[in-house]
Amino acid sequence: MKECIQVEGVNKVYDLGDIQVQALKDISFSLPDSSFVSFVGPSGSGKTTLLNLIGCLDVPTSGRIDICGEDITKLSYKERARFRGNNLGIIFQDFNLISVLTVFENIEYPLIMVQNLPASERRERVMELLESVEMLEQKDKFPSQISGGQKQRVAVARALAVKPRFVLADEPTANLDHETAYKIISLMKKMRDERGTSFIFSTHDLKVVKEVDYIYKIEDGFLKGKEKVGGENV
Ligand code: ADP
Ligand code: MG
Repeated sequence: MKECIQVEGVNKVYDLGDIQVQALKDISFSLPDSSFVSFVGPSGSGKTTLLNLIGCLDVPTSGRIDICGEDITKLSYKERARFRGNNLGIIFQDFNLISVLTVFENIEYPLIMVQNLPASERRERVMELLESVEMLEQKDKFPSQISGGQKQRVAVARALAVKPRFVLADEPTANLDHETAYKIISLMKKMRDERGTSFIFSTHDLKVVKEVDYIYKIEDGFLKGKEKVGGENV
């Protein structure tokens, strides 16, 4: 299968002047299209750093990251932003919905910002996503009027609005109770199954990763291997 993401010998050092923190150490892996995987490791192990690199939000100190056939470490700041807008969706731990926009408008927002679609096409796409994440009835509410789980459903829909190749989610369930967390992960999996969009997320909580295809263990900046989930070993 075609590899969607290839990470090769990536190191990331944060230079704080007096001290240097090596957050990632010689990381290599590749993910095919339609992946549903999670990076799992304790706080400080390097999960956010790694997702930020894959998400073109930061650049590695050394190594290569190919996404959809493009070496993103070679792109300029502006090119990275454009690449991000067209190819990937991001889901945040604290939802990051825009408080003055309705549920509908939050999902529509990236379509206005990134892709210049006509209003009728935007509406059609947003309505279809609202239905998929079961938030149609809440479409005119503001973020302050819905629950945490519902906010994350909206964030999943928003991430998928531009029809990205893959979605990154850094600890997307950290602020949710277990049952809601499980439902959000199941929703993401449904979206992967229906649309073929890859979902790459991180967690420090092994309980929420029962649904993923593989977990990648990360510890002190090292990738400690890949484990198939859903079988007997987890
Ligand atoms: P995780 O998401 O697994 O908790 P992080 O990627 O946030 O881990 O952090 C990995 C290491 O890099 C930690 O030692 C952290 O203190 C350090 N780190 C993360 N971001 C920065 C930064 N912007 N500046 C300096 N050090 C950082
Ligand atoms: Mg983190």
